[in-house]
Amino acid sequence: MSVDDRIAATIRADVRAMAPYAVAKAEGVIKLDAMENPYVLPPALREAVATAVARVPINRYPDGPADGVKAALRETLRLDPNIELLLGNGSDEIIQIVTTAVASPGARIMAPDPSFVMYRFYAALAHVAYVPVPLRSDFGLDEGAMLDAIEREQPALIWLAYPNNPTGNRFDRPGVERVIAAAPGLVAIDEAYYAFAGDSFLPRVLEHPNVVVVRTVSKIGMAGVRLGYVAGHAKWIAELEKVRPPYNVSALAQAVAPVLLRAEAVLGEQAAAIRAERARVAQALGTLAGVTVFASETNFVVVRMPDADRAFAALRAAGILVKNLNGWHPLLANCLRITVGTPAENDAVLAALRRLA
Ligand code: PMP
Repeated sequence: MSVDDRIAATIRADVRAMAPYAVAKAEGVIKLDAMENPYVLPPALREAVATAVARVPINRYPDGPADGVKAALRETLRLDPNIELLLGNGSDEIIQIVTTAVASPGARIMAPDPSFVMYRFYAALAHVAYVPVPLRSDFGLDEGAMLDAIEREQPALIWLAYPNNPTGNRFDRPGVERVIAAAPGLVAIDEAYYAFAGDSFLPRVLEHPNVVVVRTVSKIGMAGVRLGYVAGHAKWIAELEKVRPPYNVSALAQAVAPVLLRAEAVLGEQAAAIRAERARVAQALGTLAGVTVFASETNFVVVRMPDADRAFAALRAAGILVKNLNGWHPLLANCLRITVGTPAENDAVLAALRRLA
């Protein structure tokens, strides 16, 4: 039997039909496609990172629960001591862990649509039916449609990205609270963009019996570290803990993350600079003919262009990589998602788009 025959007889048909997650090569370009923080670390902090890494006993497995990282998170988030934490190799892994934990035969996972693509991806891998509920055309939560779908589908898990990716807006909190109240199972509030948002469920997560908050350090300057977390009631976390791979956060990540988390002033300044640039870029984009700018509480701006494919190509030609959302979902027709970069990077985007007009 050939390799192809054996693969056909062995690998799941749905996996064989899938394409791997495409990550665009971005060497030498202005990279504004993946919501990274554009700022490098100041030299003193790089030194502190180097020192921490040099001390890592690389021949040993990492601390399983990564208690040092949890302590740094508790301290810097000023976390209520009754809130429990579980860490992941990026919040992507948290999404996989939560999905796996609810994936009983016949279970359903629900989320507004469009939202973060990994919710659907991990549901499919776990053979769980995924129920997308369309957003309104202004990207707001369609509360009536959500409540109807909850009643009909009785989802084990609802994902709410707060604020939402790829649309950038934060759903109305009272609407989210009514969804939480109606949900028969768990509601995971994904706050990947909390550093750029005006509200959070984390401080009051324990007030709801069915809510956990998922976060990542990727957008605050540590995308390369791969660290995410889920925070909530100790009993929810204890169940999720059973699904977590034992050494999922590397010793290197465990050494580096506390150093950077405790550099609160640096991270805070960078996030503030990104928020200020977001306002400037949004305002400037709004002056371009035919361009609609959507409200954002993230580190990216979504715009609807007269011709997004043409704008994407023009940016590419100017050495700038953004995300072309055109074709992803009917609500995203002619939309681009532009990560907020440094002032110079943002100026390059504005100049390229002005030349188009
Ligand atoms: N949740 C949301 C809403 C996101 O946009 C992202 C990153 N694009 C993630 C989770 C995953 O982040 P990471 O795996 O880097 O922690």
